Amino acid sequence: MLKAKVSVVTGSSRGIGRAVAVKLASLGSDVAVVYHGNSAKAEETVRSIIENYGVKAIAYKADVSSYDETKELVKKIKEDFSRIDILVNNAGIVKDGLIAMMSEQSFDSVIDTNLKGTFNMIRHVCPIMIREKGGRIVNISSVSAIIGNPGQANYSASKAGIIGLTKSAAKELSVKNITVNAVAPGFIRTDMTENIGEDNPLIQMIPLKRFGEAEEVAEAVAFLASSSYITGEVLKVDGGIAM
Ligand code: NAD
Repeated sequence: MLKAKVSVVTGSSRGIGRAVAVKLASLGSDVAVVYHGNSAKAEETVRSIIENYGVKAIAYKADVSSYDETKELVKKIKEDFSRIDILVNNAGIVKDGLIAMMSEQSFDSVIDTNLKGTFNMIRHVCPIMIREKGGRIVNISSVSAIIGNPGQANYSASKAGIIGLTKSAAKELSVKNITVNAVAPGFIRTDMTENIGEDNPLIQMIPLKRFGEAEEVAEAVAFLASSSYITGEVLKVDGGIAM
């Protein structure tokens, strides 16, 4: 279904990003695996994608919060793959704390990675998609953007910013046949939520009474990356917690 397409997935050495990269590869897409910290995990992801699906996959190290680094990154990916059809902005961090005690550094770093990182990648990739007269962009937001979450003022703000960015970009880029959508996961079982145990009362607040899996988010991303008439949408994958 995505044969001959080229996908770029940020933060894809592990967690939701890895599941997205694997899902897109399983549908036939070549994949640029963008990672920040763990090169061994990124190389393992690339190896497993190539072995299991026979598509082209390359790992790239970059900090999405840097405008200049992402510019170089996108240039390199374009040289290696010749085109970019799908961009998934998944890289993200949390630095939770109550707003009355939140440091400026904690606020800034979360905004810089989550929101500015998403802008940086769209900024550098969209001229390529405009020249190609088409593209699919999927940004990973969070239900925290929609319903708020105590202790996550920085994170909720960054993820709500992503929703505004998604809708503006969707309206701007629609004339070039580029769709821009967001996925808003609820509680998904990854390293980011590893300190929330199975017995946490939070689980009782989720209508489906369990955490989601990274693969369940990846299915929604793949759906939006394959759709041609959905743009500016925010698709919740949250077991019903934010309905
Ligand atoms: P994770 O911590 O396992 O993965 C985050 C990835 O982002 C890692 O690969 C990390 O290296 C990468 N990253 C972090 N900073 C980066 C930077 N500056 N440049 C490049 N890459 C960077 O977390 P996850 O749970 O897989 O989260 C993936 C996305 O989903 C994040 O945007 C997160 O906010 C969002 N999300 C997660 C949940 C959840 O419950 N896990 C819920 C809602 C939204």
